[in-house]
Parts: sequence; C-alpha cells; structure tokens
Amino acid sequence: MTYPNTQLMIGGQWQDAADGRTLAVVNPATGSEIGRVAHAGIADLDRALEAAQKGFEAWRDVSAAERSKTMRRAAALMRERAGEIAKILTQEQGKPLAEAKVEAMASADIIEWAAEEGLRVYGRIVQSRNLAVRQMVLKDPVGPVAAFTPWNFPINQAVRKIAVALATGCSIIVKAPEETPAAPAALVQAFIDAGLPPGVVGLVFGNPAEISEYLIAHPIIRKITFTGSTPVGKQLAALAGKHMKRVTMELGGHAPVIVAEDADVTLAVKAAGGAKFRNAGQVCISPTRFLVHESLRNDFAAALAKYAQGLKVGEGNSEGVQMGPLANSRRLTAMADFARDAVERGASIVAGGERIGEVGNFYAPTILNDVPLDAKVFNEEPFGPMAAIRPFNTMEEAIAEANRLPFGLAGYAFTSSLKNAHLLSQRLEVGMLWINQPAAPWPEMPFGGIKDSGYGSEGGPEALEAYLNTRSISIMNV
Ligand code: NAD
Repeated sequence: MTYPNTQLMIGGQWQDAADGRTLAVVNPATGSEIGRVAHAGIADLDRALEAAQKGFEAWRDVSAAERSKTMRRAAALMRERAGEIAKILTQEQGKPLAEAKVEAMASADIIEWAAEEGLRVYGRIVQSRNLAVRQMVLKDPVGPVAAFTPWNFPINQAVRKIAVALATGCSIIVKAPEETPAAPAALVQAFIDAGLPPGVVGLVFGNPAEISEYLIAHPIIRKITFTGSTPVGKQLAALAGKHMKRVTMELGGHAPVIVAEDADVTLAVKAAGGAKFRNAGQVCISPTRFLVHESLRNDFAAALAKYAQGLKVGEGNSEGVQMGPLANSRRLTAMADFARDAVERGASIVAGGERIGEVGNFYAPTILNDVPLDAKVFNEEPFGPMAAIRPFNTMEEAIAEANRLPFGLAGYAFTSSLKNAHLLSQRLEVGMLWINQPAAPWPEMPFGGIKDSGYGSEGGPEALEAYLNTRSISIMNV
C-alpha cells in the first residue's frame, strides 16, 4: 500500500508550505523514509489563522442540528474508510493493524457522541427579582481553538479535540504530529468531504515550539488544548496564562496498578497485561507501577512474564502481530536507560529487557520485578512496553505509594472486596480509575487527569463545557 505525502489544510484547501519546506516521515518498523509532510512557516500560520476566524464566523451561525448532521456524515466516512486509514496509520506509527483499525473506527463513535451532545448545549432562564426583567444564561462557542496533538494516537487525540470544537460551534487549527501526519490528515479529509465549510478545521505541521508560541499568543486564538508530556504541557499552560487563554491539558501519567491480596490474579494478568502492551505501552493511561500484595507477587510476576513472552512482536501489518515497534528511536533509547538503571539498583528482569534486532525500533515486552522505589522507572513515565513490579503489605501502603508521584491520570486495581473498591475510589489521586477491568475510555465518560497530569476533560459533557463561554444576559421590559 502506498503511503501519501501530507500537505497543510488551510481554508478548505490542501496546500504545500509557502516556502515549499517538507519533513521526512519514517516507518518505525523499517527505519526507511516513506513520505514527506509539509512544514508550515509563519506565513502559512497567518493564513491558517485568518481562515480559522472566517471559519468560526460561518460555523457558529450554523444551527446545532445542522452541525450535528455534518459531523455524522464525517463519522460515517471514517467507518467506511477505517480499513484504508488503518494501513496508513500502521505504516507511520507502527501499531498493529487491528489496533489501528480500532482507533479509526472509534473516532466515528467519538464524533457521533459529540454531535449528539452538541444538541444539548443549553443555557437557562433564571428567576428574576424584578418581574419586568428576564435573566438568561447563554452558552456560546469560545472561538477559534489551537490544538496540539501527539504521535501515539494520531487520530484519537486529534478527534477528541476536533469533535468537541465542532459540536460547540468553534473552529480549530490542529498542529498534529510531524512523525505521524497522514492519519490525522485522513481524519480532516473526512470532515471536508462531509461538507464542513472552509476554515472550520485547519491542519498544520512544522516546528512544534515555533507553532505553539505563535498560535497561543495570537489574538484570534481563544482556547488551547494540548496532549503530550507534562514538561511541555507546563510550558504551554504558562504561555496560555500569559495571554489569558482557556486551556485543556491532557498530560503524562504513571498509572498505579494495585493487585490486592483478594484479587483474581488471572483476571489481573489478562486485563493489565493487555492494557500494558497495547500500542507498545505508548499510552498515557498505560499501567506502569504494579503494586502487588506480598503474598501474590512472585506468582503474579511469573504470570505477567509468561504473558509478555507470549506476545508476537513484529511489523504492525504482518499477520498475527500483537505489538509493533516503538514509534520513534527516542523511546528505544529511553527503554534501554530505564532497564539499565533498574537493574543497577537491584531489580531483576523477568521478561524482555532488550532491543529486538537491529532494524526498526523493536523492544521486547519487559517485566521488571522487585524494583526499588528510587529506580527511574518507578518515578518517570516509561511510555513504552515496560512493567515494573513492587510488593506491598497493607492497602494503606499501596495507596501511599500510588499517590506519591505528582502524576494523577489513570489508576487500576484488582480486588474482590467492596471495602477495598470503596477505599480506593475515595483515596487514589487519579482522574480515572478502573477496578477489575482494563481501561474503558468511552466518549461519554470524562477523560483527563489531576495534579501534574493536567486539567480539563476530553470526554463527557465536561469536554464540551471547556469550549463554551458562559454569559449572563438580563433584559428589562420597558
Ligand atoms: P516531547 O515532550 O518532546 O513531546 C510530546 C509531544 O508534545 C509531541 O507530540 C511533540 O510534538 C509535542 N511538543 C513538544 N514540544 C512542543 C512545543 N513547544 N509546543 C507544542 N508541542 C510540543 O516528548 P516525545 O519524545 O515526543 O514523547 C515522549 C513523552 O511525551 C512521553 O514520555 C510521554 O510522557 C509524553 N507523551 C504523552 C502523550 C499522551 O498521550 N499524554 C502522548 C505522546 C507523548
């Protein structure tokens, strides 16, 4: 299957950068260049901004019902095209074809859910103290949005932002990942083909720092939304604060997995193992810090090691592959560093722990046992196919460890006791907690973190609220 080059989407037209600059796109399974992506300069951003302003003025005046219909057409196109888009996504990002197809199909669910919820953006009438006065609360679109999305879920991270912006009547410029540009371009194409007016969705690529600094500061942009690492998120949030822009931040995590004494170990291994190695662990809600009750820890480590060793690793578009390469060579270096550091501090490797082959960014699914608390992997987000295990004795101890880090994105627990489930739901400092199951980030549920993992939500009605201004109107009958 041929891989397309990607241009910029500005004012409803695909176009090259004004100065013709492009960047290489590399297949992480082979290390070879497979295509080029246009690199926007300031002149291109200026045109994208002007188009976004015009797009906003047109789209906010389209009724919610019509907006919803256009969005539903885009969702249908994504379903129709999911098989072809998945092949593109696998080539540029590396994930197995089946995972890529799920991502493309899930985008349709997210678009539809936002399209429906957009119909329920209500204001309210408030009882007045003077009967000659009518008091109203209006909810209006915040305005043109600048979105910055990462390479791990090139479609999903973009669609969560685009769908909600469109449902609320905003326009949006997405700075999508240079490493994986064609899948987000296919998503944008579905909206264009569905009949979205020019300028409502723009797509740019280039130098991330240059683009974010320019767009965040620009007076046309009224809201910023970013998914990526905590350090970059803090920089962008500070810049947004300086310019008084609304912000949603979906940042890194370091998800604790508490396996209690009364857990169903088979279920825990299957659910947490599946979640751990999905997208080669390059998932912000990936389970990473495994806290296992002392009585189960060796059995659990052995079972998780067996699970990891049984996974078929290879090129994402080969039959039966369950885990692809890491998306870029930075992650390969990071994995080697985490493993070396943990072993030096006394951890044992019970599965994997090394690169596979010399071509492509393949790294073996890795399980580390008896990992000391000061090991890097227990403190920094691994963002790769690596699980680190530590024992605990009491639930208080496990909760204290889970809450020790500044992150607060996802958490998992396995227990058969209602008492533990209640305690954990009250005390774990995470934005999302899944008990006795893998992650289920459905569009109708809030998705987001607390503490250093960010603020705002990318799911549920809260996601729309973040794109709306609330205004009070009071009319005196004279
Ligand atoms: P990074 O911190 O350099 O970049 C993370 C993302 O932010 C990338 O998509 C990048 O293009 C973007 N970015 C970087 N600097 C930016 C800037 N100044 N303005 C706008 N966007 C900018 O790290 P990386 O090596 O690409 O990814 C590794 C780390 O990023 C991981 O350890 C993980 O914590 C985090 N990450 C998180 C998610 C997530 O879903 N929350 C996704 C991808 C990466």
